[in-house]
This record gives sequence, C-alpha cells and structure tokens, in this order.
Amino acid sequence: MEIFDPAEVWPRERIAAIQLSRLKSVTAQARKCDFYRERLDEAGIGPDSLRSLDDIRRIPFTTKQDLRSQYPTGLLCVPPAQIVRMHCSSGTTGSPTAICHTRNDINTWADLMARCLYMVGVRQEDVFQNMSGYGLFTGGLGIHYGAERLGCMTIPAGAGNTRRQIKLVKDFRTTVVHILPSYALIVGEQLRAAGQDPRSLPLRIAVVGAEPYSDEFRRRIEDLFAVKVYNSYGLSEMNGPGVGFECDRQNGLHIWEDAYLAEIVDPESGAPVPDGEVGELVMTSLCREGMPILRYRTRDLTRFLPGDCPCGRVHRRMDRILGRADDMFIIKGVNVYPMQIEEVIMTFPEVGQNYLILLENDGIGDRMRVQVEVRDEYFVEDMRMLHNLQKNIARRLRAEILVTPQVELVESNSLPCGEGKAVRVKDLRADK
Ligand code: ADP
Ligand code: ZN
Repeated sequence: MEIFDPAEVWPRERIAAIQLSRLKSVTAQARKCDFYRERLDEAGIGPDSLRSLDDIRRIPFTTKQDLRSQYPTGLLCVPPAQIVRMHCSSGTTGSPTAICHTRNDINTWADLMARCLYMVGVRQEDVFQNMSGYGLFTGGLGIHYGAERLGCMTIPAGAGNTRRQIKLVKDFRTTVVHILPSYALIVGEQLRAAGQDPRSLPLRIAVVGAEPYSDEFRRRIEDLFAVKVYNSYGLSEMNGPGVGFECDRQNGLHIWEDAYLAEIVDPESGAPVPDGEVGELVMTSLCREGMPILRYRTRDLTRFLPGDCPCGRVHRRMDRILGRADDMFIIKGVNVYPMQIEEVIMTFPEVGQNYLILLENDGIGDRMRVQVEVRDEYFVEDMRMLHNLQKNIARRLRAEILVTPQVELVESNSLPCGEGKAVRVKDLRADK
C-alpha cells in the first residue's frame, strides 16, 4: 500500500500514545485563553490531571454557542501576529463562528488533506478542479492546499457557473474534482440536457462532501460520470475538510486520530454511547495551536464502525453522517432524518436530482409533503405512469418512516437550488 504519511499506518498503541501526549499539550495550549483557563479550572483540570485517554471525559464540552460567545478572537491562544489565516463556518445553522490559524496549523491541515487525497489515489499527475466555494468557506482553500501539496495542478474554479466548470474540465483535462453532492447531479444533468455524455469527461475521482448524502446518491454520481466518489467530512471548527475521509474500500470514513480525538455521545445526556450505536460526534483538535478546541459538540450524528478496515489503516472509521441533530424533525410523533427520505427516493430511476421536504400544519394536524423532481424523459410519459410512480414513492416512504407523506412530482430544475449547501427541509409549521 502506498501511503503519504507514516502516521496513516501506525498501530493502535502508537496512535493511543500520541493521542494522550497531544491531548495534554493541546489542553495546556488551550489554557492560554481566558475562556478555556476558566473552564478547565472550574472542572478541576490542571497540568497533571489527564492520565489516560478516558480522562478526556472530565473536560467540559465546547458548544457552538460557546464559539459564538467568543467570536471573533476570544479563543485565540497565540499572539495575534502569529495568525496567518482565518475561516468561518458556512453559517448553515445560524450566525457563523470564526477560527484563526497559525502557519503551523495551516501546514498540518494541508498535510492531513493531502493524506486524504493520496489515500484514494490522487497523484501529482492529476489535474484537480475544486468546484466548491472559496472565500471564508473551508472547502475552498482547505482542499486547495491539500491538492497543491500533492503537486496536482489545482484549478480554483469555485462554486457555480456550470458552463465554465465544464469548459475547464475539458480544456485542462481535469481528472479529479471536489464538489458538493447536490451540485454534482446538477452538473451531470446539465450536460445531459445539452446532449453530452458526462461519462466521456476525463474525470476519474470525485471528492464529495460538506453536506450529508446517502449511499444511493453516491452511486448516482458514480454512474453519471463514471467516477469513483469518496466521502469527505470536515467542519471549520476542526479546520475544515481533512478530518474524516473514505479510503478506496468506500466503507466508512477514517478519522485521522493522530490529529483529532473523536468521541460519540448521547446527544441528550452527553454520555458515551456503546460502540456501533448512533450518537453525536464530539471532536477535539489535537494539533492546533492558534485556536485549539476541546470536545466540540458537532451536532453531527454518526456511529463508529466496528472492526478494522481491510485497507490496513487502524484509524477508526465512522459511518457517513446521518444528518445534523438540528435536521431531525418530528412528524406525527415520529423522528425523521432527511437522509432516510433521500435514501428511498433516489432508488427510483425516474427521480431527478433534487427534492424538497415541506412540513406544514393545516390546522388539523401536521402534514409532510415531499416534492420530487422527475427526469425530463419520464415527465412526458403518460399520466398513469406518473400516478403509479407517485404512489410507489409514497408507499416506500411509508415503509421506511411509518408516516405517509404526500408526494408531488415536479419538473426537472423546478425546485430551488443555490450555490451552497442544499436545503432539504422547509418547516412551515407555525408551532414548531
Ligand atoms: P456549517 O455548520 O455552517 O455548515 P461548516 O462549513 O464548517 O459549517 O460545515 C461543517 C458541517 O458540514 C459539518 O458539521 C457537517 O454537518 C457538514 N458536513 C461536512 N462534511 C460532510 C459530509 N461528508 N457528510 C455529511 N455532512 C457533512
Ligand atoms: Zn480503510
């Protein structure tokens, strides 16, 4: 196996030893800001308190609200002059948070990112087109630095402007792209609508992440472009992309444990969940000096996958993100995640690239409407076929989530789609 960094194949004992020593040093570093010094003092955690990895549970959680309260630079742990860059979260769930990085932080991050890309076969000879937004969003520069570190010609295409994206792919013979899942299908459909075959592009790998998507969605992108799709997970609070990444086995995302300490906890109680059970991912940055973050409640739901990966890396794997805790909605007493719905509707070949879940209250009770785009070639078919499709989708959804939604079939490209992360649910209920 070719590796980018020897740490990828460290045995468990070595990973654990590094984690403990880095946990101690990052906790000491965190004390350089008032916020963490006070928090750690309150919890009675001094320089010698952390003796084993389990002692991490004595450290209080850090929440998004904490980060907001310390915005912009309350968590800074180095003299301001040592900061070379800042990034913000996309603000998907509220006001953004800012993270400041030193030169070392940026270097470590680029190495981690390069490690991810190398793991799935990206090499210096590749032409890498980054179709995600640049600017404050970490999916731009974060991925960019990793691809450049590998020596790829890296095209900072940014988000949107599909015609130009396609032209760049063709003109520069792009072999690897980084793209949002929702946008990937849009690019593919636009090509097809123009009478071109997306499979004839020179692409071979697509790095896809930044928002949840189902395995069914992955398969669609793979088929559409004849590429391999690898899931990429990260969050700005933990630098950005490069936190978790699938290897060539496509069976879960390895979390780079020499740089991050991951826990999965019960979102209500904060207690660790038994291995293999779904809970909230909690992350500690083990290497960051500019703004270390301890035990960050990501709000992302996933589970650790049991067993070792056949690829030989022992860095723990997590399942693809089921959704954000904030994305879960309750309808008629049932907890539902958008991904459960996506998983079902994307198995229908007639279904196009976009869908939207609407939650409404008509005065009598809650109602769920699922608007589903139908591919052009099917939309012109007879009414009976559409009616059957509608019924079948509703039936399969009911089997999955135990609630019968009202399914509406709409034309391709009729649902709203922006350049950023897709909005899958609109909750229009007054009393939510
Ligand atoms: P925001 O929370 O404002 O979107 P970020 O830009 O930092 O801020 O995005 C990080 C979040 O994006 C993660 O916490 C997670 O919810 C989501 N995310 C990132 N990568 C993935 C992925 N591969 N699968 C599912 N969700 C992802
Ligand atoms: Zn693996």
